[in-house]
Amino acid sequence: MHDFKGQTVIVTGGTRGIGKGIAEGFLKAGAKVIVTYTTNEAAAAQFKQDNSQFAENIDIQKLDVTKYEEVEKFFKYTDTKYGSFEVLVNNAGIRKDSVLAMMKESDWHDVMNVNLAGIFYMCKFAVKSLMRKRYGRIINISSVMERYGFEGQANYAASKAGLSALTKSLSKEVATRGITVNCVSPGFIATELIEDLPDKLRESYLARIPLKRFGSTEEVAACVLFLASKEASYVTGSTLEVTGGL
Ligand code: NAD
Repeated sequence: MHDFKGQTVIVTGGTRGIGKGIAEGFLKAGAKVIVTYTTNEAAAAQFKQDNSQFAENIDIQKLDVTKYEEVEKFFKYTDTKYGSFEVLVNNAGIRKDSVLAMMKESDWHDVMNVNLAGIFYMCKFAVKSLMRKRYGRIINISSVMERYGFEGQANYAASKAGLSALTKSLSKEVATRGITVNCVSPGFIATELIEDLPDKLRESYLARIPLKRFGSTEEVAACVLFLASKEASYVTGSTLEVTGGL
């Protein structure tokens, strides 16, 4: 178990799914966690209730990562309230699947805006703050689709491959400032994001996974906590896959 006492951690889209698992992992490890959500007030309230024993270490903030000014305001808020932070987990992500020939232009742009532009905005303002501190950990949640590229996910796969490239470039830019930047790349994790998969597709995915099961949010969180820890000081620009062998 890594120790994050005295550290402040930001997890975007952290009130449900993989983000919730990650935020809860940091809370259990002693961190103060700023959890962001967009519109799902019910999930935010549920998160608070499920983690009431950590109430004083939880700060839930509304944030749409696709809005540049909102992101800028969010980091002004964290700087004013906490002075600084140590860890940013860019977990927010969406998928809008369809075969490329039928893909709506808006579905292409929506996915790129959240999964790529949103992370650019978050990293831009985070890095300014972390550079002053000369310490930081940024973990971007990618997907095995960045290299696997399933049918029907051209927009999603392209956004995650772009994220991997962004991660590598940024890691080189900030390495001398004590900041590491890495990706955690999950395979199929049991969350709402994959709940809507048709049964036949779900079965075909399971058949392809060597471990023959979907992963858990706790299994993703364990990898994020490792990369966010002081012990991971010599790991940067890399991708840690949590895929059951895909
Ligand atoms: P989810 O839909 O449960 O959670 C996504 C989160 O992103 C939500 O909290 C949502 O509010 C937030 N979000 C969406 N748009 C946003 C915006 N504009 N601004 C801020 N937040 C926004 O999905 P999940 O499965 O928990 O996925 C979390 C991350 O893991 C995503 O980046 C996803 O691509 C990635 N991932 C998931 C799986 C999987 O199998 N579930 C596999 C690989 C990668």
